[in-house]
Amino acid sequence: MFELFDMIKENLPEVGYIAKKKIPQNKAKWKHHMWDGEDTLCRLASTGGLNIKRYESSDPSQGGSVCKMCRDNYEKRN
Ligand SMILES: [Zn+2]
Repeated sequence: MFELFDMIKENLPEVGYIAKKKIPQNKAKWKHHMWDGEDTLCRLASTGGLNIKRYESSDPSQGGSVCKMCRDNYEKRN
């Protein structure tokens, strides 16, 4: 798992958003997760609920929504 994190770190900013590489045509369906450099804030990446290899850095301002659990955990951290 740590190897995967290292792999994605090479391609992603330390902190930011990630979304599936194969983005659906319908931008409203994009689901962004918040990435803290090691895991998604919802912890789906470290628990295996999300295959990090299939994700890349993303920009929520382009459409879609941000994972609610990520947002909730972000609120708790700050
Ligand atoms: Zn999330």
